[in-house]
Amino acid sequence: MAGIVVVFDFDKTIVDCDSDNWVVDELGFNVLFNRLLPTMPWNTLMDRMMMELHSHGKTIDDIVQVLQRIPIHPRIIPAIKAVHSLGCDLRIVSDANTFFIETILKHLKIRECFSDINTNPSYINEDGRLQILPYHDFNNFSHGCTLCPPMCKGGIIEKIQESLGEKKRLIYLGDGSGDYCPSLRLKEQDFMMPRKNFPVWELICKDPLLVKAQIHEWTNGEELERISLQLINKICSGESDEFISSNCKLHIMCVFGSH
Ligand SMILES: [Mg+2]
Ligand SMILES: [Zn+2]
Repeated sequence: MAGIVVVFDFDKTIVDCDSDNWVVDELGFNVLFNRLLPTMPWNTLMDRMMMELHSHGKTIDDIVQVLQRIPIHPRIIPAIKAVHSLGCDLRIVSDANTFFIETILKHLKIRECFSDINTNPSYINEDGRLQILPYHDFNNFSHGCTLCPPMCKGGIIEKIQESLGEKKRLIYLGDGSGDYCPSLRLKEQDFMMPRKNFPVWELICKDPLLVKAQIHEWTNGEELERISLQLINKICSGESDEFISSNCKLHIMCVFGSH
């Protein structure tokens, strides 16, 4: 369905853990990570951790090996392939980094399902260590969003919306507090899929009426697959328009009000 853009968060949405934590923990650097965490922003710390890994003899190949065995729910890959084969435009908006995401997606053979990956740039430098840069260049630019230090996913969603025009409909899937800002930018015809009992779901529950999009929660890969495919089917059959004009906001309030 060419009119549907499906935007995925990466950590704890596509993969079932945080890829930054996964690499640091699996290579045995979590004590240092936790000691440095209060002293610098997350993104700066991840770049520093890549320097520490390199100076302790951990190679890019060691990092790749760890990334290739990251936990993922068995229904996520079939779900992504199915959504892609229906003709949807799949994108990633993530606060991880290009190297981690590309390595994992290529290993899972689903890289070609995504038309765009918005995340922190990273590259292997001349010393053979991974360097991670911030998505926003803070020297020249502040993203100006009070909800979102340091990366504003809502601003990225706005850029996507501008590039698409009015006709396309967005489905956004995410778990973290950083996925709340984009949920506020979605329009009436869009769909927000927050992971149940995760930070973005809890933020939405506080006042679901602030989200203009239809809200559909999910708990695991199996539900992500079933619900996203149902929504796409609904949009394709035109059924969702009736659904929106009914008392769906009230329904959502009831569902979320029980929390
Ligand atoms: Mg996440
Ligand atoms: Zn923001």
